[in-house]
Amino acid sequence: MSRQGSRDTAPEVAVRRLLHSAGLRYRINVPVPGMPRRTIDIVFPKAKIAVFMDGCFWHGCPWHATQPKSNAEWWRAKLDKNVARDRETTEHLQAVGWTVLRYWEHESPSEVAEAVMHAVQGIRSEGRWGSLRQARAPADAPGHTSAFN
Ligand SMILES: [Zn+2]
Repeated sequence: MSRQGSRDTAPEVAVRRLLHSAGLRYRINVPVPGMPRRTIDIVFPKAKIAVFMDGCFWHGCPWHATQPKSNAEWWRAKLDKNVARDRETTEHLQAVGWTVLRYWEHESPSEVAEAVMHAVQGIRSEGRWGSLRQARAPADAPGHTSAFN
């Protein structure tokens, strides 16, 4: 069930296609860990990157969000709640170690895909650096003599 009728939107599909043709593999529409009623649009499970493509209307884009005139109060409450919910989801994911990337549906799919690729590559190389640093640590310990001296 799509809570906001915004699943698999055209910009999202375009971004996915670009990521896929760049050789990235990901999962889509994955439940938020610990918040199973919410879903992440695009997920890189190993890198722990969650990508959201937010619809301008439903998620309150500062440029394109409109306030419906009939039932204005109800709509304002509903849309405010969506925005608060997005923030809560982001904070929850960050608290459990995820990188959260949010984009508006009006953003250029190629720019979004490029930013996502950079983030995924960044996390991957960070992982490599982390293990290099760890592997080197004993050699830097005081009193240790390197075999290469
Ligand atoms: Zn917008």
